[in-house]
Amino acid sequence: MILCLGAAGCQRIVDRIRDETRDRDPPPATQTPPTNTPTNTPTNNNPNNNPQIQIPGLGQLPIPFPIGNPPGGTNNNGSPNAPVDYASIAPAPAGSYDNTGTMTQAFLRQETFQVFSELVQNLSAEDRAKIQGIPLRVAESPREVNAAAGCTRGRRAFMLITSALLTLSGAAAEAKAYDDLSGQRVQEQYYTNTATNVRRQQPVQGLGPGVIPMPLALDARKLARQRLLFDEQVGFVLGHELAHHYRGHTGCANGTPASDQEVTPEEVVRVLSNTVPLFNQPLELESDTWGVTNVLDAGSRRQGGRWNEEGALMSLDFFGHLTRLGVDTLLLGIMRTHPPPALRIPWVQAAANNWRNNIRPQAGTIPGLPIPIPLPQGFPIQLPAPPR
Ligand SMILES: [Zn+2]
Repeated sequence: MILCLGAAGCQRIVDRIRDETRDRDPPPATQTPPTNTPTNTPTNNNPNNNPQIQIPGLGQLPIPFPIGNPPGGTNNNGSPNAPVDYASIAPAPAGSYDNTGTMTQAFLRQETFQVFSELVQNLSAEDRAKIQGIPLRVAESPREVNAAAGCTRGRRAFMLITSALLTLSGAAAEAKAYDDLSGQRVQEQYYTNTATNVRRQQPVQGLGPGVIPMPLALDARKLARQRLLFDEQVGFVLGHELAHHYRGHTGCANGTPASDQEVTPEEVVRVLSNTVPLFNQPLELESDTWGVTNVLDAGSRRQGGRWNEEGALMSLDFFGHLTRLGVDTLLLGIMRTHPPPALRIPWVQAAANNWRNNIRPQAGTIPGLPIPIPLPQGFPIQLPAPPR
């Protein structure tokens, strides 16, 4: 999820991308309406005012729903807008939070590695063999909300997640856990503030003292749920990046992982500042499919609170806030490296619904792409074959 770069290099890189995309962008495609609209296409959309979204490699897609809709609520039962089942969630571990009820930085890091380990353990044997032993590194980068599947110069695989992304995920988890109990909208305000910070290339901050008032800040239900919500967000991000490796997008995950020593600070900087989009957008959608599948697979075997796609939808909601601020045009941004949230949100929801219906991702549903891409069944968009 290459999202943004360090402040110093950002404008230079934006200029480069602009230059490159100016040369590379195809001429506007003629609008071609879908010829085979699935029967379950939502009827409450806006068919006369469908925005057109440019997906490199896929031409222009009519999106049959309004852009900018926040994701629908999905609770830890996996059903939209149902009450949270607090009894199913394990209590927050002792020491995971401070005296204001905020998860500590040390815990967020420890938990990230735990989530990563569970994701790896729950892959198929074939996929796991490709990425077993890949090191995960937390990059100390307070301004970059970012994660990456990287290859060293010696073509060994590793994984990165930035400290800013952990801060964002921890604070959003706490805000949502509080909102669910109180009926407030702290998470929405936090996303708005943080998206503004990212736009200004300022460090990502936590919620700040006093934002979550007592006594709910230390309520056992809130403490347990914020940990679950953090796991689900980081699980989706890491699952997405892992998929880039084991689905062969990076080309370096072949069972010979990088050693810790090989992941030098220079390699970390190089991968995080990779200015040219590493993957194309169909591959990003494929990684979304496998990422959410991985989270649900691993989460279904957990005791003390199953994971579902709500964390994925939270992360995509944040990207949507960036989009609405115009960050995609200002910074390198996910819009260049990843499809827009307006596409990814229903995509992830469809993939999760498939999972609940025991439909595994299938290969080969979009003909003509360089690799087979699993298209979630019931997805409300008929993807056209890419132009030749
Ligand atoms: Zn990606």
